[in-house]
Order: sequence, then structure tokens, then C-alpha cells
Amino acid sequence: MSTTTLDLAIVGAGAAGLHTARRAMDRDMRIQVFDAHARIGDSWRERYRSLRLFTPRRWAQLPGLRLDIGVFDYPTATQLADYLERYAATFEIPVRTATRVQRLHVDAEGLFHLALDTGEDVVAQRVVVAVGVHHRAVVPTFAADVDPSIRQLHSLDYHGPEDFAPGSVLVVGAANSGTDIALEAAAAGHATVIAGRHPGQVPGNIDTPIGNLISDIFIRKLRNATSDTEKGRRLWEERRGHGVNLVRNHLSDLRKAGIRQVGRVAGVEDGRPVLEDGERLNPATIVWCTGSRPVLDWIDIPGFADEQGVRHERGMSTVVPWLAFMGLPFQYSIASPTLMGMGRDAEYVVEHLLQPAPVAQAA
Ligand SMILES: Cc1cc2nc3c(=O)[nH]c(=O)nc-3n(C[C@H](O)[C@H](O)[C@H](O)COP(=O)(O)OP(=O)(O)OC[C@H]3O[C@@H](n4cnc5c(N)ncnc54)[C@H](O)[C@@H]3O)c2cc1C
Repeated sequence: MSTTTLDLAIVGAGAAGLHTARRAMDRDMRIQVFDAHARIGDSWRERYRSLRLFTPRRWAQLPGLRLDIGVFDYPTATQLADYLERYAATFEIPVRTATRVQRLHVDAEGLFHLALDTGEDVVAQRVVVAVGVHHRAVVPTFAADVDPSIRQLHSLDYHGPEDFAPGSVLVVGAANSGTDIALEAAAAGHATVIAGRHPGQVPGNIDTPIGNLISDIFIRKLRNATSDTEKGRRLWEERRGHGVNLVRNHLSDLRKAGIRQVGRVAGVEDGRPVLEDGERLNPATIVWCTGSRPVLDWIDIPGFADEQGVRHERGMSTVVPWLAFMGLPFQYSIASPTLMGMGRDAEYVVEHLLQPAPVAQAA
């Protein structure tokens, strides 16, 4: 059993964890990052092969190291994964990969204990939880009633067209991943239906130099929509109801590909998905693009979250001193859980972790 005591333990070596680590190292903190995956960047490597980010290079890269793609290019998931790995190596960020934190708790003296799946117990004065929000699939409960002859998968588990059963494909959820996967199904020759409300569209074509530059207007709008402004809170509430805008794909792309667009899936009858208007579909495959959420059940700290989610102020726990989070939805701005917003959040979190521990509110 190890008796290491760290200034700061960071759980998660994705972009959020690496941003935080670099800031903390600049402030001479003795840190260690833990990541459950075998390699840094594996969260991205696990996503579907054709995934290309909608974040331009200037916003996707972390401070001090260029992402090696063209100035108007957007990285693929693999390019970003390899870049994150190179980033950690370049700045000698101490990351222990293949190491899952199985339990986090705080003792009577306020020290954090991280129980690793290696059997070690690591002690730290401060902890940042940077585990990402897209790790547990969310599907409607009626998915359990779908006939077993229909193949079902979630977008988190989709890799490429080999995942479709022969026959027609129903994609449920018409946002960015859903439209990507529907276009791929149609291109692979499957009769494809996409169900769900159109979430709105960023105008223009981001894959042209001018479109790339104009996308800054939208990125800045997301960054400026912060939790300390009335306008930011209003925009967040609006988006919460409507999902994320389509960024790259357009409705016209779906039409051109021969994809049928229908309303929401309301339930399942006799094992078949049924639309709001009563139409019953009979797909060979259903891909649920219905969202995902973080996995935080290993945090054994009473009251750190409630039914609204993690209790925090700009990522700093309002329950436990010197516990912080990164990459939460609307942590500070709408851009917070994306590459466009997490650098600023890391700066804030590290500066606040260096302050004397605040008095915790009652859990
Ligand atoms: C399909 C898809 C497309 C996206 N496209 C974009 C885009 O174009 N632009 C953009 O900015 N954002 C995009 N996002 C959002 C994207 O997830 C974030 O930008 C970014 O990956 C979040 O980084 P992160 O560090 O918070 O989380 P992650 O990259 O998920 O990293 C979290 C890490 O924590 C580790 N971990 C989790 N639990 C534990 C534990 N208990 N112990 C140890 N390690 C643990 C995981 O192994 C993982 O490596 C996309 C998301 C999805 C799902």
C-alpha cells in the first residue's frame, strides 16, 4: 500500500485533465493524473471512426503545442487522441494510464483518499475530477421492450457501418452524432430513417476557410454565455430544451442522401418503435443517439451532488473544500464541457485550489 501524499490528484487525462495538470505544474504543485484507459486519448479513439470534430484547430489545441493539421482543418478523433498523448509527453505531465480510481472519499482531517484498482490508496490534499460527461449511454426506458430480433446500439458504441444489421436503420436523435450516423448508414446502402426534432443549424459551411473563420462568432457566443450573466443563463435554459445545434451537417444533406426525417419515437408496441403520429416502424437496427452522462458513482462523498447534478460554483465544490470538477455542463459557460471552454475553466479551478480551503457548506 502506497503512502504518497500529493498536492493535487487529477482523475481523468482527457483534454480537461491535461489542461488542469499543466496549469497546476506551472504553479509548482506536486500532481499525479490517473486515467482508466490504456492510452491517453482513448476516449476519442473509441468514438466512431469517421468522427471529425467541429472545433477548428485554433480552439482544439491546448496551450503551447501545435495540433499538426492545416490551419483551416478540423481534427479527426484519432488526430486529437494522438495530439493529447503527445501533449502529455511534451510537457512531462505525470499520467498513470490503465489506472482507475474506484473510490474517492475524504477523511476527518479533510485529506482525500483515492482507492485505485491496483489496490493502492493515494492520499491527496486536493482533487480535480475531470472524467468527461459522455461515458454512460442514456436511452429511453421503452428501449427494453424492443424485439430482440432488432439490433440496438447507442452512438457511444457505434464504430462504423459494420455495426448495422442487414436491412433498414432507424437513428433516434437528430443532433450531430445522429445525423453523422444516419448519413453513414445511407451511404452504406441502408434505407435510413432519422427520428427527432431538428435542433437548429449553424448557418453556412464550416468546412470552407470562410466558414471556418465565421464559426468563431458562434464559438465566442458559447464562451460568452456564462453562468454569471442573465443572458448566459437564459441561453443555457433554451439550449437545454432544444439540444445542440447541427454544426457540420445540414437538413439538406439528409434529404440529398434519401434519409427520411420523422418526428420523435414515442414508445414501443409489439416490439416495434412507434412514432408520435402512431406510425409503426420495422427497422433491422436502431441506433440511439439520445445522449450520455458522466459516471460519478465512485465518488463516496455525501452530498457532493444532488438531483440537479454536482453542487459547485464554477467547478469548485460548494460541499467539500479543495474538491473541484472540470468539464461539467455549464460549469461556467456553455462551452465548458468542450475544447473551446475548458482552458479558461482550468485556470480558474487551479487558482482557486491554491487559495486557503474555504469553509464547506453543510452537505
Ligand atoms: C461524438 C462526440 C463528438 C464530440 N465532438 C466534439 C467537438 O467537435 N468539439 C468539442 O470541443 N467537443 C466535442 N465533444 C465533447 C468532448 O467529449 C469534449 O470536448 C472532450 O472530450 C471532453 O474532454 P474531457 O477531458 O472532459 O473528457 P474525456 O475526453 O472523456 O476524458 C475523461 C477521461 O477520464 C477517464 N476516467 C473516467 N473515469 C475515471 C476513473 N474513475 N478513474 C480514472 N480515470 C477515469 C477516462 O478514461 C477518460 O480518459 C464530442 C463528444 C462526443 C461524444
